[in-house]
Amino acid sequence: MPSDVLPGTLVIGGGIGGLSAALCLALRGGTVTLAERSKSFAEVGAGIQLAPNATRILRRLGVLDKIIPLAVRPRRLVLADAINDRELTSLDLTDFPARYGAPYLVLHRDDLLSALLEGCQRSGVELHTDAHVTRLEDTGDGVVAACADGREFRAEIAIGADGLHSRIRKLFADDEPVNSGFVAYRGAVPMEQVERHADLRDVVAWLGPGLHLVQYPLRSGRMYNQVAVFRSPSFARGDKDYGNPTELKEAFAGCCEHVRESLGTLSIENRWPMLDRPPIPGWAHGRLALLGDAAHPMLQYLAQGACQALEDSDALADALAAAGNAGRPPAEGLAAYAARRAPRAMRVQRTARTWGEIWHVDGVAKLIRDELLIDRDVADHRHVAWLYDEAALERNAS
Ligand SMILES: Cc1cc2nc3c(=O)[nH]c(=O)nc-3n(C[C@H](O)[C@H](O)[C@H](O)COP(=O)(O)OP(=O)(O)OC[C@H]3O[C@@H](n4cnc5c(N)ncnc54)[C@H](O)[C@@H]3O)c2cc1C
Repeated sequence: MPSDVLPGTLVIGGGIGGLSAALCLALRGGTVTLAERSKSFAEVGAGIQLAPNATRILRRLGVLDKIIPLAVRPRRLVLADAINDRELTSLDLTDFPARYGAPYLVLHRDDLLSALLEGCQRSGVELHTDAHVTRLEDTGDGVVAACADGREFRAEIAIGADGLHSRIRKLFADDEPVNSGFVAYRGAVPMEQVERHADLRDVVAWLGPGLHLVQYPLRSGRMYNQVAVFRSPSFARGDKDYGNPTELKEAFAGCCEHVRESLGTLSIENRWPMLDRPPIPGWAHGRLALLGDAAHPMLQYLAQGACQALEDSDALADALAAAGNAGRPPAEGLAAYAARRAPRAMRVQRTARTWGEIWHVDGVAKLIRDELLIDRDVADHRHVAWLYDEAALERNAS
């Protein structure tokens, strides 16, 4: 039943952010149209970690039950030394449902995207692929989006969920992605191809000077996900073709045997530069707002980019419903959404940068970091509770 409380919404971009926003709005009875540039809805062939701040929302959306059979519930998050093969510290994930109200999951990105897409299809979201939005206008009484092929979409409000390189963000900020100088190679491979693996019950991040490798199982242990990240010397020299596979191998040459041999099964077909943007608080203007990476692109070190997009989607639907119920215009709902979400997402963006610096230190700083991590009480949740705890959402929002 279409809602007369929620405004008709155009969502631009059909990644995890756009699909989850469309689903959140449609489940509350909103009329939603989604325009995706690509010919089909697709994700990178790699894994994703979902913390309880995201899985709580997925449960409300009816998506958690669909993905759990395909996901792995890891036992621990482990930080290990990539050079001397030593465990530095860990976090027990098994009590997360009791502690944070939902599990910590790792799964294939395709499985998450498919479940969100299926939810959108079931709840009546009008989905358009091959719809590259090149122009968006707030006309005062609505929005009009024009596509490269001449198609036009009209709605009461529009949400730019078009990712790190967002075109819609240009209407909000005059900034560009910032290249951290790090390059990632990543991919999931069938478990049979993996001769050496970390403990299959854990998510393990191997840390070294200017590099790290993350490993975890997917699809009930039938696949193995690996992400290798390193600081590219050729990027620092200004080379155009920086971070090639030879440089990857050289970067990891001083690592322990396990880490070096793991690179043998790493997909080297694609490389990703690691980019973010400076935080901006103004994600809403009139009838337009940003969501997901378009609003707060972050480095991946906290594994929170998609989790934050899910928080956005939930908060957006709440704010629009509250405005509608109070008889206030949708623009006020969008402003309330941005005011609620931006402080927390900006904190996550900033912390992700700092976390990356801590992961990649060398010399004396590395010695100090390692001692602090080894001495850390593994039952201490202070560094994650602000992210995962539901009560912390309220505190972070102000
Ligand atoms: C190496 C790495 C590891 C990561 N690991 C994690 C993790 O473990 N956990 C986690 O939570 N996050 C993780 N992230 C971050 C996460 O992947 C992103 O934050 C998330 O996917 C962003 O989703 P999004 O929908 O906002 O953007 P995107 O996924 O970029 O989607 C944007 C969509 O918009 C479409 N689009 C773009 N322009 C237009 C246009 N003009 N018109 C129409 N459509 C358009 C694109 O085709 C795309 O489908 C990781 C990131 C990286 C790089």
